[in-house]
Amino acid sequence: MIRHHPDQNLLLEYASGSLARGPSLVIAAHVQLCAACRRQYHALNSLGGSILKQSPTQPLQAGAFEQVMGRIDQVPGRIAGRRETPPPPAPDATLADIPPVLGRLLAQNVPLRWKKITRSLQICRLRTGQKHYEVAFHRLCSGGEMVEHDHRGSELAVVLHGSFSDHFGVYNRGDFILRQPGQVHRPIATQDQACVCFSAVSAPVAVTGISGWLLNPLIPFRPG
Ligand SMILES: [Zn+2]
Repeated sequence: MIRHHPDQNLLLEYASGSLARGPSLVIAAHVQLCAACRRQYHALNSLGGSILKQSPTQPLQAGAFEQVMGRIDQVPGRIAGRRETPPPPAPDATLADIPPVLGRLLAQNVPLRWKKITRSLQICRLRTGQKHYEVAFHRLCSGGEMVEHDHRGSELAVVLHGSFSDHFGVYNRGDFILRQPGQVHRPIATQDQACVCFSAVSAPVAVTGISGWLLNPLIPFRPG
Protein backbone atom coordinates (compact mmCIF):
# COMPACT_ATOMS: atom_id res chain seq x y z
CA MET A 1 0.00 0.00 0.00
CA ILE A 2 1.28 3.46 -0.97
CA ARG A 3 1.46 5.81 2.03
CA HIS A 4 3.67 8.68 0.89
CA HIS A 5 2.44 11.05 -1.84
CA PRO A 6 3.52 14.37 -3.40
CA ASP A 7 1.61 17.33 -1.95
CA GLN A 8 -1.09 19.26 -3.87
CA ASN A 9 1.33 21.99 -4.96
CA LEU A 10 3.70 19.51 -6.60
CA LEU A 11 0.82 17.71 -8.32
CA LEU A 12 -0.54 21.03 -9.55
CA GLU A 13 2.89 22.05 -10.90
CA TYR A 14 3.16 18.66 -12.61
CA ALA A 15 -0.38 18.83 -14.08
CA SER A 16 0.18 22.37 -15.37
CA GLY A 17 3.45 21.37 -17.03
CA SER A 18 5.49 23.91 -15.06
CA LEU A 19 7.67 21.37 -13.21
CA ALA A 20 11.23 20.76 -14.49
CA ARG A 21 11.80 17.54 -16.45
CA GLY A 22 13.72 15.67 -13.71
CA PRO A 23 11.07 16.08 -10.97
CA SER A 24 8.31 15.58 -13.59
CA LEU A 25 9.62 12.12 -14.38
CA VAL A 26 9.52 11.18 -10.67
CA ILE A 27 5.97 12.51 -10.21
CA ALA A 28 4.86 10.81 -13.46
CA ALA A 29 6.23 7.48 -12.21
CA HIS A 30 4.43 7.91 -8.87
CA VAL A 31 1.15 8.91 -10.58
CA GLN A 32 1.32 5.81 -12.79
CA LEU A 33 1.70 3.64 -9.66
CA CYS A 34 -0.74 5.51 -7.35
CA ALA A 35 -4.49 5.46 -8.06
CA ALA A 36 -5.20 8.25 -5.53
CA CYS A 37 -2.75 10.71 -7.13
CA ARG A 38 -3.90 9.65 -10.61
CA ARG A 39 -7.47 10.70 -9.68
CA GLN A 40 -6.19 14.05 -8.37
CA TYR A 41 -4.09 14.56 -11.48
CA HIS A 42 -7.10 13.94 -13.76
CA ALA A 43 -9.24 16.26 -11.63
CA LEU A 44 -6.59 19.03 -11.90
CA ASN A 45 -6.38 18.49 -15.66
CA SER A 46 -10.18 18.77 -16.04
CA LEU A 47 -10.14 21.93 -13.92
CA GLY A 48 -7.38 23.41 -16.10
CA GLY A 49 -9.36 22.48 -19.24
CA SER A 50 -12.54 24.14 -18.00
CA ILE A 51 -10.63 27.33 -17.03
CA LEU A 52 -9.14 27.44 -20.54
CA LYS A 53 -12.61 27.02 -22.07
CA GLN A 54 -13.87 30.02 -20.10
CA SER A 55 -10.90 32.21 -21.10
CA PRO A 56 -11.52 34.87 -23.81
CA THR A 57 -10.31 33.69 -27.24
CA GLN A 58 -7.75 35.51 -29.41
CA PRO A 59 -7.64 35.34 -33.22
CA LEU A 60 -4.68 33.22 -34.46
CA GLN A 61 -1.98 34.56 -36.74
CA ALA A 62 -1.84 33.14 -40.28
CA GLY A 63 0.10 29.84 -40.36
CA ALA A 64 -0.10 29.27 -36.56
CA PHE A 65 -2.02 25.99 -36.94
CA GLU A 66 0.57 24.56 -39.38
CA GLN A 67 3.39 25.61 -37.01
CA VAL A 68 1.81 23.80 -34.05
CA MET A 69 1.16 20.65 -36.11
CA GLY A 70 4.78 20.73 -37.28
CA ARG A 71 6.01 20.86 -33.68
CA ILE A 72 3.69 18.02 -32.64
CA ASP A 73 5.16 15.88 -35.44
CA GLN A 74 8.60 16.32 -33.85
CA VAL A 75 7.43 14.94 -30.50
CA PRO A 76 8.15 11.20 -30.17
CA GLY A 77 5.44 8.89 -28.90
CA ARG A 78 1.67 8.75 -28.90
CA ILE A 79 1.04 12.49 -29.23
CA ALA A 80 2.66 12.46 -32.67
CA GLY A 81 0.28 9.70 -33.79
CA ARG A 82 3.09 7.21 -34.13
CA ARG A 83 3.08 3.81 -32.51
CA GLU A 84 5.19 3.80 -29.36
CA THR A 85 8.11 1.41 -29.39
CA PRO A 86 7.69 -1.05 -26.53
CA PRO A 87 10.59 -0.91 -24.07
CA PRO A 88 13.12 -3.74 -24.32
CA PRO A 89 13.00 -6.53 -21.73
CA ALA A 90 14.24 -5.25 -18.35
CA PRO A 91 17.96 -5.94 -17.94
CA ASP A 92 17.42 -7.25 -14.41
CA ALA A 93 14.58 -8.45 -12.19
CA THR A 94 14.51 -5.32 -10.00
CA LEU A 95 13.48 -3.23 -13.03
CA ALA A 96 11.02 -5.77 -14.45
CA ASP A 97 7.85 -3.99 -13.33
CA ILE A 98 8.53 -0.27 -13.68
CA PRO A 99 5.95 2.38 -14.71
CA PRO A 100 5.64 2.90 -18.52
CA VAL A 101 7.17 6.40 -18.35
CA LEU A 102 10.37 4.88 -16.93
CA GLY A 103 10.20 1.96 -19.38
CA ARG A 104 10.55 4.49 -22.20
CA LEU A 105 13.41 6.27 -20.40
CA LEU A 106 15.12 2.94 -19.81
CA ALA A 107 14.79 2.08 -23.52
CA GLN A 108 16.59 5.34 -24.37
CA ASN A 109 19.42 4.51 -21.96
CA VAL A 110 20.29 0.89 -22.68
CA PRO A 111 22.78 -0.55 -22.08
CA LEU A 112 22.46 0.63 -18.49
CA ARG A 113 25.72 1.54 -16.78
CA TRP A 114 25.56 0.68 -13.07
CA LYS A 115 28.34 2.19 -10.98
CA LYS A 116 29.28 0.70 -7.62
CA ILE A 117 29.48 3.53 -5.08
CA THR A 118 29.85 1.50 -1.86
CA ARG A 119 29.60 -2.20 -0.97
CA SER A 120 25.79 -1.78 -0.70
CA LEU A 121 24.94 0.90 -3.23
CA GLN A 122 24.92 1.06 -7.02
CA ILE A 123 23.82 4.04 -9.12
CA CYS A 124 22.81 4.12 -12.76
CA ARG A 125 22.64 7.68 -14.13
CA LEU A 126 20.20 8.31 -16.98
CA ARG A 127 20.23 10.76 -19.87
CA THR A 128 17.04 12.84 -19.93
CA GLY A 129 17.96 15.84 -22.08
CA GLN A 130 18.04 18.52 -19.36
CA LYS A 131 20.83 20.19 -17.39
CA HIS A 132 19.54 20.84 -13.88
CA TYR A 133 18.83 17.47 -12.23
CA GLU A 134 20.82 14.29 -11.94
CA VAL A 135 18.32 11.54 -12.74
CA ALA A 136 19.21 7.99 -11.76
CA PHE A 137 18.24 4.56 -10.49
CA HIS A 138 19.69 3.81 -7.03
CA ARG A 139 19.95 0.18 -5.95
CA LEU A 140 20.66 -0.87 -2.35
CA CYS A 141 21.35 -4.58 -1.86
CA SER A 142 19.10 -6.47 0.60
CA GLY A 143 19.89 -5.23 4.10
CA GLY A 144 22.24 -2.65 2.60
CA GLU A 145 22.80 0.73 4.28
CA MET A 146 23.67 4.05 2.71
CA VAL A 147 26.04 6.32 4.59
CA GLU A 148 24.28 9.08 6.51
CA HIS A 149 23.99 12.14 4.28
CA ASP A 150 22.52 15.61 4.01
CA HIS A 151 21.08 17.23 0.89
CA ARG A 152 22.50 20.37 -0.68
CA GLY A 153 19.50 20.60 -2.99
CA SER A 154 16.13 18.90 -3.31
CA GLU A 155 15.77 15.19 -3.95
CA LEU A 156 12.57 13.65 -5.30
CA ALA A 157 12.35 9.88 -5.49
CA VAL A 158 9.94 7.01 -5.92
CA VAL A 159 10.45 3.40 -4.78
CA LEU A 160 10.25 0.98 -7.70
CA HIS A 161 11.21 -2.30 -6.06
CA GLY A 162 11.60 -3.55 -2.48
CA SER A 163 11.49 -1.16 0.46
CA PHE A 164 13.71 0.87 2.77
CA SER A 165 13.48 2.83 5.98
CA ASP A 166 15.20 6.00 7.21
CA HIS A 167 14.83 8.58 9.99
CA PHE A 168 11.51 9.68 8.51
CA GLY A 169 9.64 6.42 7.89
CA VAL A 170 9.26 3.19 5.92
CA TYR A 171 8.93 3.36 2.14
CA ASN A 172 7.51 0.65 -0.12
CA ARG A 173 6.96 0.30 -3.86
CA GLY A 174 5.23 3.40 -5.23
CA ASP A 175 5.96 5.61 -2.22
CA PHE A 176 7.11 9.15 -3.02
CA ILE A 177 9.99 10.80 -1.13
CA LEU A 178 10.93 14.49 -1.04
CA ARG A 179 14.10 15.52 0.81
CA GLN A 180 15.18 19.12 1.21
CA PRO A 181 18.52 20.68 2.28
CA GLY A 182 19.14 20.03 5.97
CA GLN A 183 17.25 16.72 6.05
CA VAL A 184 19.87 14.20 7.14
CA HIS A 185 18.98 10.55 6.63
CA ARG A 186 20.45 7.08 6.29
CA PRO A 187 18.34 4.74 4.13
CA ILE A 188 18.50 1.03 4.98
CA ALA A 189 16.99 -1.63 2.67
CA THR A 190 14.92 -4.44 4.14
CA GLN A 191 16.63 -7.80 4.55
CA ASP A 192 14.37 -9.76 2.17
CA GLN A 193 15.21 -8.07 -1.16
CA ALA A 194 17.15 -5.32 -2.90
CA CYS A 195 15.57 -1.85 -3.02
CA VAL A 196 15.53 0.24 -6.20
CA CYS A 197 14.52 3.90 -6.29
CA PHE A 198 14.24 6.35 -9.17
CA SER A 199 15.36 9.85 -8.23
CA ALA A 200 16.04 13.39 -9.42
CA VAL A 201 18.46 15.51 -7.38
CA SER A 202 19.28 19.17 -7.96
CA ALA A 203 22.67 19.14 -6.19
CA PRO A 204 25.13 16.52 -4.91
CA VAL A 205 24.40 14.88 -1.56
CA ALA A 206 26.81 15.56 1.31
CA VAL A 207 27.99 12.66 3.46
CA THR A 208 27.94 13.73 7.11
CA GLY A 209 30.57 13.06 9.79
CA ILE A 210 34.19 12.12 9.33
CA SER A 211 33.55 9.96 6.25
CA GLY A 212 32.37 13.10 4.47
CA TRP A 213 35.96 14.41 4.40
CA LEU A 214 36.92 11.35 2.40
CA LEU A 215 33.79 10.65 0.34
CA ASN A 216 32.34 14.06 -0.59
CA PRO A 217 35.09 15.02 -3.06
CA LEU A 218 34.59 11.63 -4.73
CA ILE A 219 30.81 11.93 -5.20
CA PRO A 220 30.24 13.28 -8.70
CA PHE A 221 27.13 15.23 -9.73
CA ARG A 222 26.20 14.82 -13.37
CA PRO A 223 22.90 16.38 -14.39
CA GLY A 224 21.69 15.32 -17.80
ZN1 LIG B 1 0.10 9.17 -4.59
